[in-house]
Amino acid sequence: MRNIVLFGPPGAGKGTQSEFLVNHYGLVHLSTGDVFRYNIKNDTELGKLARSYMDQGKLVPDEVTISMLKAEVEKSPEAKGFIFDGFPRTKAQAQALDAFLDDRNESIEAMVALEVPEEELKSRLLARAETSGRADDADSEVIQNRINVYNVETAPVADFYRNAGKYKAVNGLGSIEEITKRLVKAIDA
Ligand code: AMP
Repeated sequence: MRNIVLFGPPGAGKGTQSEFLVNHYGLVHLSTGDVFRYNIKNDTELGKLARSYMDQGKLVPDEVTISMLKAEVEKSPEAKGFIFDGFPRTKAQAQALDAFLDDRNESIEAMVALEVPEEELKSRLLARAETSGRADDADSEVIQNRINVYNVETAPVADFYRNAGKYKAVNGLGSIEEITKRLVKAIDA
């Protein structure tokens, strides 16, 4: 199993890069944001709950997110591994993921982190709003909330993997192809 965490602030390019990495390594893409949006679209109870947080740029509570993530992993018993995109976003999620994988005799191989300056994130997200149809991309205040939540709650998750010797930072500025090459190099190193 090759389990990789693709990390970075909102707008860093995690979704875009995941598409290339899943093809390159033959892994399953697991984006918690995508799963929440699927549930919102299908008007499920989970979707209704998630939406009330997402619309404000807040994190969906750990308990809900962690059990959803586990259920998603269990839906792909044949997977050669996963690219986790947008998860873990808190230390509690990182610990839960470690314990969950440990029970399955698996682990996270690496966390690759896309580094992008804040001003660039904001302009990317506003540009993405034109096509994504995402309410949380279209509002500057919600974007700022998401970045603040990232800085306070999510950025410390990097330490968890740094302490385990699994953290690899990658410059997230440049063309999509350039960044893919940097990610592959970091993962294969
Ligand atoms: P994303 O698609 O990764 O930008 O996530 C969009 C929104 O979904 C976030 O702003 C959160 O409200 C919610 N979300 C996605 N992943 C998580 C997570 N791991 N923990 C809590 N909330 C999440």
